[in-house]
Amino acid sequence: MQTTRRRFLAGAAAIPAITVLPFSARAAAHSGNTFDTDAGPITIHPIHHASMVMETPKGVIYVDPVGETAIYDDMPAPDLILVTHEHGDHYSADVLSAIIGEADLLTNPAVHDMLPEELAEGAMMLANGEMTTWNDLRIDAIPAYNITPERENFHPQGRDNGYVLSFEGFRVYISGDTEDTPEMRALEDIDLAFVSMNLPFTMDAEAAAAGVSAFGPTYVYPYHYRGRDGGTQDPEEFASLLREGIEVKLGDWYEEGELG
Ligand code: ZN
Ligand code: ZN
Repeated sequence: MQTTRRRFLAGAAAIPAITVLPFSARAAAHSGNTFDTDAGPITIHPIHHASMVMETPKGVIYVDPVGETAIYDDMPAPDLILVTHEHGDHYSADVLSAIIGEADLLTNPAVHDMLPEELAEGAMMLANGEMTTWNDLRIDAIPAYNITPERENFHPQGRDNGYVLSFEGFRVYISGDTEDTPEMRALEDIDLAFVSMNLPFTMDAEAAAAGVSAFGPTYVYPYHYRGRDGGTQDPEEFASLLREGIEVKLGDWYEEGELG
């Protein structure tokens, strides 16, 4: 607290009262957590539901950007955009077209097939189990799918992606829409995980906690936890069910009153 105040006073003395606030101050509503890694600082900005922005040593990475494009005005421009799958809470061609700028785009094959021409040009795709390297960052596509028979139509096996981003000494897993699959449970050396839960589309808090406990990341953000008709999986319950040694991060994924 003291450090912040000192910095603020020093800044106020040095510059006029009306000035352009630094990015971190303007983006206070989506202000993130910073993780100090061997690769450098990685700052996570939860945007909404499944959408997030990550400032990383390799560049600014957007994941599943949807919603009002104005949300992204306060964020640094993307260098890479990852899309996990085609559902409207993860993929919007309009939003991608509006924000893509100079960024690279990486999607699963099904989304790649539906991209408008101007986005498809130069877009990369990665199928389940494949890997690529972007700007010296290894990216693996992890299968994301339902394993409960009556839910398989939502995310059929083989179509949708999660991603693992392997920064130097710090691996980030973004689950996409999935249940606690064998592939999730078998993940190794994950430092930071984002794990979806909601019903009927993915899984409940209990299954999410069991899956995360199995691969044991250092930190985990529950995300994507609002379900149909205002139903919600409780991130606090998820946290209480996790095994010891995994630190839960709670992001501001939803507006006040948005969760039923
Ligand atoms: Zn989905
Ligand atoms: Zn979803």
